[in-house]
Amino acid sequence: MNNNKDYIATAYPELQLSYIECEDGWIPHINKITDRLVKDITEYNSKKEKNISFVINQIKEKFGGLRYYVTFTNTDVSDNDFTAGLHKYIWDMEHVSVYICEKCGMYAETRNTHGWYKTLCDKCYDDCMDKE
Ligand SMILES: [Zn+2]
Repeated sequence: MNNNKDYIATAYPELQLSYIECEDGWIPHINKITDRLVKDITEYNSKKEKNISFVINQIKEKFGGLRYYVTFTNTDVSDNDFTAGLHKYIWDMEHVSVYICEKCGMYAETRNTHGWYKTLCDKCYDDCMDKE
């Protein structure tokens, strides 16, 4: 599993990644999503003789969960089922993120930390609360 924060920009420079706003624990999960999108789109393009790509508009944490915002490009109405499937995949993976510690990647749950929702494992939660 790839845990390099610059992985997307290095592996897929054509994707126009604007930025990633979250902590390192989610990076392998984010890289997995990107790899899957690229793989599915590459297969679809070769099978259907298409030239679909995507732009990652933003990747961030919101209310303790991952948000992975993309726009698919070079699509037409005949691609709607395909892109809807990709959006469904992203949505499912965003929901999985609430079980992954945003700091370290271990099993976690979403907690209220001083009024902010953060998805953290027991240890990172304790560290976070100790700091204040
Ligand atoms: Zn943790």
